[in-house]
Amino acid sequence: MDKPRAVVIGSGIGGLTAAVALHDRGWRVTVLERAASLEPVGAGIALAPNSQRALDVIGMGDEIRALAAADPGQVLRNDVHQLIDPLTSFHRGRTVLVGDSAHAMAPSLGQGGNQAIEDAIVLAHHLTPDGDLGAGAAAYTADRLPRTTAVVRKSARTARLMRLTSAPAVATRDALTSLASRFVPTLILRTFDGIADWQPPRPTYAAPREADTAPVDAEQ
Ligand SMILES: Cc1cc2nc3c(=O)[nH]c(=O)nc-3n(C[C@H](O)[C@H](O)[C@H](O)COP(=O)(O)OP(=O)(O)OC[C@H]3O[C@@H](n4cnc5c(N)ncnc54)[C@H](O)[C@@H]3O)c2cc1C
Repeated sequence: MDKPRAVVIGSGIGGLTAAVALHDRGWRVTVLERAASLEPVGAGIALAPNSQRALDVIGMGDEIRALAAADPGQVLRNDVHQLIDPLTSFHRGRTVLVGDSAHAMAPSLGQGGNQAIEDAIVLAHHLTPDGDLGAGAAAYTADRLPRTTAVVRKSARTARLMRLTSAPAVATRDALTSLASRFVPTLILRTFDGIADWQPPRPTYAAPREADTAPVDAEQ
């Protein structure tokens, strides 16, 4: 019997992770990307332990860790958009959103890409090719919506602090941050409590990993 087909629209970090994870789960995956080619844009993103663990599920964690060499070459300036009010669902029918399309957030905690990778792994966990798609998609929304909403809100709060412009407010913020990091050095790290300690769902993969035997289609 032919494998069921999943179509991933967009080959950002969320789409590509979803493509590999779904492919590993036994889906035949087609990736559609509107850009004519994927070029380096001069930006890098930080991947925290939560998404590194998620990437370990699909066997890519070590490869990504090996790439972790920063090139401080250029400064990139772009508008940043965030989705403060959460969507009520990340799926409708057979269509599912991952990453920024579901929960674009301020980059202040460096979690947008991390959450996209988590989404992708959790999505593939819930979508078995021979299972009930509606139930799988609903389980995905139920898993991911509360978590990503909490991260979006935390990122927004941090962004508000970072965007202060009045001199007294900036001075107060900087002084408090400096004091806190001096007397409670772990305080900044505690921002990531409940975020970086995320664990992927236990893989329930019945089928062997197929990534090495059949390539993911890439269509433009
Ligand atoms: C300054 C800055 C710093 C950041 N730093 C970090 C960080 O350190 N760590 C971190 O985790 N995150 C960071 N982020 C956030 C992170 O970059 C994004 O959350 C992440 O890239 C989102 O991935 P995505 O796959 O959801 O979407 P995208 O990366 O936006 O990918 C979407 C893809 O879909 C394609 N597409 C769109 N519409 C269509 C269509 N109709 N048909 C076909 N293709 C389509 C697009 O061309 C694109 O390739 C940062 C963001 C900014 C702006």
